[in-house]
Amino acid sequence: MEPGNEPLIKFDSVVKRFGDNVVLDGLDLDVNAGERVTLIGPSGSGKTTILRLLMTLEHVNGGTIWVGGRPFSHMYRGDKLVPASEKYLREHRKTIGMVFQQFNLFPNMTVRKNVTEGPVHSLGVPKEEASERAVELLEMVGLADKIDAHPTQLSGGQQQRVAIARALAMRPEILLLDEVTSALDPELVAGVLDVLREIARETDITMLCVTHEMAFARDVSDRVFMFDAGRIAESGPPEQIFGDPHEDRTKSFLKAVL
Ligand code: ADP
Repeated sequence: MEPGNEPLIKFDSVVKRFGDNVVLDGLDLDVNAGERVTLIGPSGSGKTTILRLLMTLEHVNGGTIWVGGRPFSHMYRGDKLVPASEKYLREHRKTIGMVFQQFNLFPNMTVRKNVTEGPVHSLGVPKEEASERAVELLEMVGLADKIDAHPTQLSGGQQQRVAIARALAMRPEILLLDEVTSALDPELVAGVLDVLREIARETDITMLCVTHEMAFARDVSDRVFMFDAGRIAESGPPEQIFGDPHEDRTKSFLKAVL
């Protein structure tokens, strides 16, 4: 591959085990800069584990994760790759934002403070600047009028939109979305998905989404990965995966969920 053309995210033979349960068994997966990728497949097939490895909430048991051409799960000691130290991981995960199923906002802080806290404390952005950016982001998610509210005064959908603004406030290169609409009442799902569609349209952020929302996956993805038992059963553009799936596993999964 040409230098500079390497994928932004590269899983190279990644193994992840929980006790005897081998969740990822030598997974290879590449995501290019600016790509929007969705991970679909049955529960327990390892999709969330992939996001959690990238968030460094879990550590690999084998293989290496690379981000931006540099080792991510590992670091160089001399010319040898060794498991990354906590300090190394802390530094490198700043480029990655994650939004969870449960919004995990800070309940005792206003919406503004939720969005400015990370940039001010972890990135050293001046308060004023972080606050101006918070206004822009809250406008983008349609909640500028809630800037002084507390999370408990917001609906689940609104809280999730604040969580998205909070993740973007860190100016991540990569945004990980883990079933972000699964905990929402059905009538609140569309508003959150619309915000994500807009982010996909308006920014060049690289997105990895685990989702059960097949219509959303179809709209927003450049590539869909169908997982089965910790392996990629099939991957391709959404038109192919949804319109002309090749693998039986994909066909039966889509039949069950669509
Ligand atoms: P998916 O997102 O596709 O539903 P997950 O990545 O959440 O799948 O889970 C894959 C497998 O890993 C499941 O068998 C799950 O029980 C197991 N697993 C995930 N997290 C943990 C954990 N913290 N401890 C033990 N097992 C886990």
